[in-house]
Amino acid sequence: MKYYSLNRNAPEVSFEAAVIQGLAPDKGLYFPKEITALPVSFFENIESLSNENIAFEAISQFVGNEIPENKLRQIIKETLSFDFPLAEVEENIYSLELFHGPTMAFKDVGARFMSRCLAYFNQNKDQKNTVLVATSGDTGGAVASGFLGVKGVDVVILYPSGKVSDIQERQLTTLGQNIRALEVDGVFDDCQDMVKKAFLDNDLDFKNLTSANSINIARWLPQMFYFFFAYKQLKKHNKPLVVSCPSGNFGNICAGILAKKLGLPIAHFVASTNVNDTVPKFLESGKYDPKPSKATISNAMDVGNPSNFIRIQEMYDDDLAKFEKDFSSYSFDDEQTKVALKNMYDHNSYIAEPHGAVGYLGLKKELQNHPEAIGFFLETAHPIKFSDIVEETLNIKLSIPYQIESVLDKEKISTKIKTYEELKAFLKA
Ligand SMILES: *Cc1c(COP(=O)(O)O)cnc(C)c1O
Repeated sequence: MKYYSLNRNAPEVSFEAAVIQGLAPDKGLYFPKEITALPVSFFENIESLSNENIAFEAISQFVGNEIPENKLRQIIKETLSFDFPLAEVEENIYSLELFHGPTMAFKDVGARFMSRCLAYFNQNKDQKNTVLVATSGDTGGAVASGFLGVKGVDVVILYPSGKVSDIQERQLTTLGQNIRALEVDGVFDDCQDMVKKAFLDNDLDFKNLTSANSINIARWLPQMFYFFFAYKQLKKHNKPLVVSCPSGNFGNICAGILAKKLGLPIAHFVASTNVNDTVPKFLESGKYDPKPSKATISNAMDVGNPSNFIRIQEMYDDDLAKFEKDFSSYSFDDEQTKVALKNMYDHNSYIAEPHGAVGYLGLKKELQNHPEAIGFFLETAHPIKFSDIVEETLNIKLSIPYQIESVLDKEKISTKIKTYEELKAFLKA
């Protein structure tokens, strides 16, 4: 499979090159040159297929012959080593729980798939890759866990000192081996700026830097798997399906739209956002006008200029009329989010967290337009990851799952830095 840059000013590349580079030389995101729908029989028989077989059918055309079938199946097996249950929250509304992986964030899926692809491509080379990533919370932990012990790959994670939760900090500072954490005296944007600068710095070319956020196709593409898994479970209702994704960089929803291109019968998509409402505003006005991000209680979605939206525009031919057919986007503030958390708990005994609650709100709103449909929202993290808000809003105490328990008593190891020069010296050392 060939990939082209959405800035359309760079050569087409293979899957391998797109994974290793992350971003195209013209700074565009890579996008697959062809998307071929899966056969109707696949969807007719989906209930009889294992998650691993479904994932293989979904992704194999995007990998092509660059990874042999048995190896790709092995990578998928290691990626999907946990469950994706669908919990009924209320009549016609389900929560697709994506938080049963090792770091209890949906980002585990993409991080595990990408790390194993990189390891495969590096196996017979002397060269190493360095994954450099800035995190405001969940990305860092998922990347640290997903890449731990993976041969040929070093990982350097930058995070803002004092701005991530204790659990999140431990998830990215306690693993050791090929994972190193840099504690930056600054905010998330400072971390992000340093990472961007490093990617452009020719003095660091020898490090083969790559990114591990959803701009990388190997992190983005596998995120389509769970839309198939949800369909497999909901197909028996024989009703149109509405899906709501709590959206920040819009990687998840973009993967869902790709799944629909492959033939997955999803009637309508909702991109639910917090007050960072660049996309809802775009759908109203037709103008894409990115703004600096605002801080909210669903902070993994505090994004003013969602990086994957350009991929979504590509799939809708950048035509508002096409968007209107099956895509909506709504924004909700923190107060509404807390009320939704409380409602789910009080009426249905379901404990969500703020990102899932934003997804729930968007789904409720859109289902009013589809009285005959059922829907699910993505629950993108375990409530314990946002325990401050959840415990305070619901007036409960959450118990600590074993995945989290196991990092709490480990020793934090990080290096404090303040400037880009310090980052550069660290990488060169
Ligand atoms: C990253 C993240 C999101 C946003 O996902 P996108 O694919 O960037 O839209 C939502 N919720 C949580 C908990 C996250 O960590």
